[in-house]
Amino acid sequence: MSQNATIKILDEQLCNQIAAGEVVERPASVVKEMVENSLDAGADDILIELAAGGRKLIRVSDNGCGMNRQDVFLALERHATSKITQAEDLFALRSLGFRGEALASVASVSRFRLRSCAGEDGLGQEILVEAGQVRKAQEVGMARGTLIEARDLFFNQPARRKFLRTEQTELGHCADIVSKLALACPQVSFRLRHENRTLLELRREKGLAERVAALLGRQVLEDMQQVTAMDEQIGLRLSGLVGQPTLSRSTTAHLYVFINGRSIRDRVVQHAVLDGYRHLLMKGRYPVVVLFLDLPPAQVDVNVHPTKHEVRFRQQREVHDFIAAALRRHLQPATWVQSPRGGSPDPEKTPQGRPVHPEREPETAVHDGLQPQYVADSGRFPLTLPPVATPLPAARLLPDSGVFPSPQEGSFFANLRYLGQYHNSYLLCQDGEDLMLIDQHAAHERIGFEKLKADFARGAVPRQSLLFPEMLELDFRSIQALDAHLDELAALGFEIEPFGGKSYVLKAVPALLAGVSCAPLLVDIALELEQQGQSSVLQDQLDEVLIMMACHGVIRANQALDPREVRALLEKLDQVDFRGNCPHGRPVSQRLTLREVERMFRR
Ligand code: ADP
Ligand code: MG
Repeated sequence: MSQNATIKILDEQLCNQIAAGEVVERPASVVKEMVENSLDAGADDILIELAAGGRKLIRVSDNGCGMNRQDVFLALERHATSKITQAEDLFALRSLGFRGEALASVASVSRFRLRSCAGEDGLGQEILVEAGQVRKAQEVGMARGTLIEARDLFFNQPARRKFLRTEQTELGHCADIVSKLALACPQVSFRLRHENRTLLELRREKGLAERVAALLGRQVLEDMQQVTAMDEQIGLRLSGLVGQPTLSRSTTAHLYVFINGRSIRDRVVQHAVLDGYRHLLMKGRYPVVVLFLDLPPAQVDVNVHPTKHEVRFRQQREVHDFIAAALRRHLQPATWVQSPRGGSPDPEKTPQGRPVHPEREPETAVHDGLQPQYVADSGRFPLTLPPVATPLPAARLLPDSGVFPSPQEGSFFANLRYLGQYHNSYLLCQDGEDLMLIDQHAAHERIGFEKLKADFARGAVPRQSLLFPEMLELDFRSIQALDAHLDELAALGFEIEPFGGKSYVLKAVPALLAGVSCAPLLVDIALELEQQGQSSVLQDQLDEVLIMMACHGVIRANQALDPREVRALLEKLDQVDFRGNCPHGRPVSQRLTLREVERMFRR
């Protein structure tokens, strides 16, 4: 045993840096802590300025209550907070902050400036700190409010600075955080500036709906419905906006949940929300939801994680079931009223005016103006129209449409004897003695995918100009992703141009998708590109994107086909390379041998 004690009490600066490790992960965490402080200070006008994605500069100014001279110095001490005084307060929290760590942490890992004025005399106190050491303190003239600046984040911690991502990525995270805080506080004005550009300009709004429109777009708001529900026993109130099932996304990025005003990523709540949408969304699709849960502070512990991204409920199961049931009630198909689309100049005349709703369940589906045309063409067959909203790209299926070169060798599918269509979804064919079942949706998807892939490889995806350009409204993230890939999207057949603010105008689409509204598809593509990271090129996600496009343009299950269309489909299948599976990996065809059928009947 050593004589000398080996345990030491760490010095203050080191403690702060350790705390900073938990609280400050990246520029966005600083933005979050600073803006939360501004909100706690009662500000209703908050300006966030960034440089180099926040790596070089983060500055947050507010018109809140400010701090007096003494408090400016105290605020930088670790565990210095004006928000709680005793342990019981932790279970009756009304503020966003309470740990008293943020300022001390940020100041310990940056070049930090705090300037604040609490009175009406126009005189404030400024303090400059570098890596936790106070460098300067002086009086400054300023109006009531606070300005906090963190430059060169992690300049004194090169190892951590290395973990920062590209400027675009960090900026994206900052914009996400501001968006979430802004959704929770519609009455507060937020401005986010990056170098000379204004990224978000959100004025004070009456309520959530206006804020959602400003952040996510008016089109999105139109497809959302207000929900409120109350559980007396837990004292839990749920309110907010839920998207109709057709407004789905390929990621959970648009699932916003706030618990007692705090943006939270909670597994229990997320599961409950998805449970509420069960059977309404296709696999891999997620709803757009802005939900607020308010419950007595004693029912939920926010102090389980330094960044307060997670919570713990006292009655987890009850909370879960309440949310799921409330959403399910609201999502009853009957409660959705169809909203007219503001997407294109004249929704009456253009097929692009209404979005296609591939994931719509048959019972919630609406007839689309396009369908009668198609049926008229199919003549003699007394078809009953299935209630599906997808316009049928009938012309593209006809043998003479010239989409594919004529078959090179062996035509397997074309030689099958077509027996009929089952459940408007499967083609029954005979191959010698065997029965072949072909999933018409999977088959068409595969064909579209291969065609797109071949066209793209040749650098010649045929495009079709839209007579009535489609308008898109995108959120910040999607804009970022699309902007970075405009050229590649053009190579895919999309002609998109910025139209001011967060609006874009879609002037041409891949010919394969003509007649289908492409706005929802582009949002998906943007999300897909975004998810893979800004730096990656489209080539890396090409298959994913092509699958999305193919899937968007094709025949759905539940669609009556006439024999000519079936023939055309079978012939095209022969020209596809990997005819075994659809691009999603589902099989295109299945074989039942005569032997198997006979066995079923015990012959
Ligand atoms: P916490 O928010 O957990 O209390 P912080 O380290 O974030 O801890 O802030 C410490 C204290 O500094 C706060 O409790 C508050 O009194 C004061 N403060 C911080 N930012 C502001 C601001 N923008 N306006 C007024 N007071 C502020
Ligand atoms: Mg704080």
